[in-house]
Amino acid sequence: MFKQNFKNQIVEIRGEKIGLGEAKLIKIPVDRLPTGTLIEIPVYVFNGDELGPTVLLQGGLHGDEVNSIELVRRMLIDKSYKIHRGCVIVVPLLNVFGFLNLSRDMHGKDVNRSFPGSKKGSLAGRMAYYLMKELIKNVDFAIDFHTGGAQRNNFPQIRYTPQDERGFELAKIFNAPLMFSSKLIPKSFRNQCYKNNIPVIVYEGGESLRLDEDAIQQGINGTLRILKHFKMIHKSVSIPKKSTSIQVYKRKWIRAKVAGLFNTKIANGASVKKGEVLGNIMDTYGETNFQVKAPNDGYIISKNNFPIVNMGDALFHFGE
Ligand SMILES: [Zn+2]
Repeated sequence: MFKQNFKNQIVEIRGEKIGLGEAKLIKIPVDRLPTGTLIEIPVYVFNGDELGPTVLLQGGLHGDEVNSIELVRRMLIDKSYKIHRGCVIVVPLLNVFGFLNLSRDMHGKDVNRSFPGSKKGSLAGRMAYYLMKELIKNVDFAIDFHTGGAQRNNFPQIRYTPQDERGFELAKIFNAPLMFSSKLIPKSFRNQCYKNNIPVIVYEGGESLRLDEDAIQQGINGTLRILKHFKMIHKSVSIPKKSTSIQVYKRKWIRAKVAGLFNTKIANGASVKKGEVLGNIMDTYGETNFQVKAPNDGYIISKNNFPIVNMGDALFHFGE
């Protein structure tokens, strides 16, 4: 499936060349803030001695999705990017501005809805533009790391593009606890890469602004399985013969039918039976107690951790 001429002979970013066997930190300047502060994309390149695939590992496209940043950072500290074949391009934190502002956005705009971007556009648009211009041309495939937003905790999962067979292959190798296909969203990073014939899988784990050890570890393990599969690292990594990732075919949000205090004891990722009570919504005066039930047999793939809910609020992302 990935039999092609891989790209890592010489990686070139912003005119800087990184040859076989070389490693370098490159900073791509994007824009200046009103204070004069320079916003840059820090990029680590680890180019192996032998030819192989070039993989982009990207954290923090959404600035507040800290698990994505932490797992990419931790692999850097653990020296997991000791690449002998192929190349990894590592962006630990793309959206520096959002990170500082505890926000998924960059100056009020979602970078992941700003592709392909433009050199003269908004900060988010420029970030998208430079990411595509400087990095993506070097890349064979990418893993984009994310975290659930708005106090919704995503059980570790891989999302791939339905019509992209290579993405599906990568999802199976990654072997996260859950995997499912997810439609391309216009102006997203994954959509833009798809147009450029670059497969992207999206890893989601945990929730924004909260570190989640399981989500971090599952993300690291999956990434190591990918690097090992393509013989890029020597490190011993256990890879199951067959993917054990649970494939979800149908998804829907279970929403609050009443407003109130939401409480649940069901574990994220749990397998549940039709009619099983997933949680309760109580009014604040102790008069009503509304039970939230599973619509079918299935899995909890994301869980809302915010206790005050209005009618229509998302409680669980439910997979079958
Ligand atoms: Zn995200």
